[in-house]
Amino acid sequence: MAEMYYDDDADLSIIQGRSVAVLGYGSQGHAHALSLRDSGVDVRVGLHEGSKSRQAAEEAGLRVLTPFEACEEADVIMILVPDPVQRKVYAEAVEPNLAEGDAIFFGHGLNIRYGLIKPPAGVDVCMVAPKGPGHLVRRQFTEGRGVPCLIAVEQDATGTATELALSYAKGIGGTRAGVIKTTFTEETETDLFGEQAVLCGGAEALIKAGFETLTEAGYQPEVAYFECLHELKLIVDLMYEGGLEKMNWSVSETAEWGGYVTGPRIVDDRTKATMKQVLTEIQDGSFANNWIAEYDAGLPNYKKYVEAEEQHPITATGKKLRSMMSWIREG
Ligand code: NAD
Ligand code: MG
Ligand code: MG
Ligand code: MG
Ligand code: MG
Repeated sequence: MAEMYYDDDADLSIIQGRSVAVLGYGSQGHAHALSLRDSGVDVRVGLHEGSKSRQAAEEAGLRVLTPFEACEEADVIMILVPDPVQRKVYAEAVEPNLAEGDAIFFGHGLNIRYGLIKPPAGVDVCMVAPKGPGHLVRRQFTEGRGVPCLIAVEQDATGTATELALSYAKGIGGTRAGVIKTTFTEETETDLFGEQAVLCGGAEALIKAGFETLTEAGYQPEVAYFECLHELKLIVDLMYEGGLEKMNWSVSETAEWGGYVTGPRIVDDRTKATMKQVLTEIQDGSFANNWIAEYDAGLPNYKKYVEAEEQHPITATGKKLRSMMSWIREG
């Protein structure tokens, strides 16, 4: 069973006694910077001169510096820029400003797990990874609650890295919900596997295959869209609230039958063997190497996939149908 920590296990005064730089002000960055500030932590945001996020951070009352300046001042540096650019920001802004006893923090372990960033001995290397999107992390915090977080320590130079990571997690509300101890390796490999095989990769492929099967059989795309994409949210919401058992309790017995009999014919032993192959490529580093090489080359294949996605009939069908649903338009 996982080791869990709550508010009483974490000492907020540790992070309150440090100078924190949050690099990046996107989904995670804004949540961390604002909630740390509201927890009485001395925080500055690091963004490059032309960044579109600068204005938002300044309007929220935060001090905004360049990443280099922010790291010069700080002794705890949280790197929340996109994973493929972390290497560059680290080399230009973080590394030149690291001193013995400083700490670098991540919200996801990819750059450490695959050796893209190699911190020097003498600094703590920690992770605080909320298990939710940044906007939920911030909203829960302002409502007096929190989103569960994973914490990990890759390098404990000071001997107090775990206490520091717990203190940071408390500063963004994580220990209100509960914090689970993991490793950079476990977090990185499971996070990549989840998004590649199940959440984004797997779910999207399942939706498209279902939509294509119905439309190729002559059914109307609008009807296929409702059945294969739109209604998925209703099903996932039930799973989110109460697991597979609540979903099966709520749907008809006919639908439930699908989970026992038809589903395993769709996602069968071959699919599972492919999942194991995908996991192997994540574990041996080839997935990350390929993705970083694609990113560094200017995303040539990615751009082709995005274009193909725009041409897929499910895109135009969805646009039309969503415009009929006022509650989605307003969101
Ligand atoms: P994001 O894309 O939402 O935001 C990135 C921020 O970095 C933006 O403010 C952008 O202006 C800034 N930025 C981009 N290039 C920069 C540069 N060269 N120098 C300085 N700033 C730069 O990113 P995100 O989704 O918040 O992801 C940040 C980290 O958090 C990643 O490691 C990601 O894996 C992790 N994470 C994200 C989520 C999530 O909910 N999105 C959840 C868990 C972990
Ligand atoms: Mg993002
Ligand atoms: Mg994830
Ligand atoms: Mg991820
Ligand atoms: Mg139906």
